[in-house]
Amino acid sequence: MNFPEPGDYIDIHNHGANAVPGIFTIETLMAHENREPENIKGLTYSFGIHPWHLDENSHDHLISCVIINAVNPDVALIGEAGFDRIKGPSLELQRKTFEEQVKIAKEHKKPMVIHCVRAWDDLLQEHKKLKPQMPWLVHGFRGKPDLAQQLVSKGMYISFWFDFVMKPEAIPLLKSVPKERFFLETDGAGINIMDIYNKVSDDLDISVEELKRTMFLNFNQFFKGIP
Ligand SMILES: [Zn+2]
Repeated sequence: MNFPEPGDYIDIHNHGANAVPGIFTIETLMAHENREPENIKGLTYSFGIHPWHLDENSHDHLISCVIINAVNPDVALIGEAGFDRIKGPSLELQRKTFEEQVKIAKEHKKPMVIHCVRAWDDLLQEHKKLKPQMPWLVHGFRGKPDLAQQLVSKGMYISFWFDFVMKPEAIPLLKSVPKERFFLETDGAGINIMDIYNKVSDDLDISVEELKRTMFLNFNQFFKGIP
């Protein structure tokens, strides 16, 4: 896998990213999209089954795509995978597919990126049951500080929802998450990661350079142990 350079802006979760000098991006490949990772400077990839794009008919094919791509060294993470109680197939199928992906992540010693909508109990139960050795990154987070604390206490990392993080209301949440446990993302929304860094560094009363250093250390910590 590719790693960021010190001084890069890190966009931990994006869709449809291009390589941009000074920005290091994790590009999300969803199994149903039939896209493959390429070794491009400034990009690395996650590969997995998004619960929105899963059903009984496609399940076997999608899992075989994850199995095939998980061995690719340019695939740094498995996911986004997880639970959605608003949109997607039955919870039973979501759970089965999630557990299969956790197993694949374990075999290849890759961390996971998690999509979770109104299914925190389901996610926490799975974490308790499966005791994953590789860390989980919950992306698109905009929950309460208490919930963030709970996830962090289980060893998870949090990436804030791009839209929420730009609002003044995000400050209590931003301040409540230990700085060694969070990331920033654009999630395919076409917004500029630099604007997010500016806003978050203001909120936390630190410089953009310091925020970049923190994100760089977090990245290396999160991917520690990757073969
Ligand atoms: Zn996404």
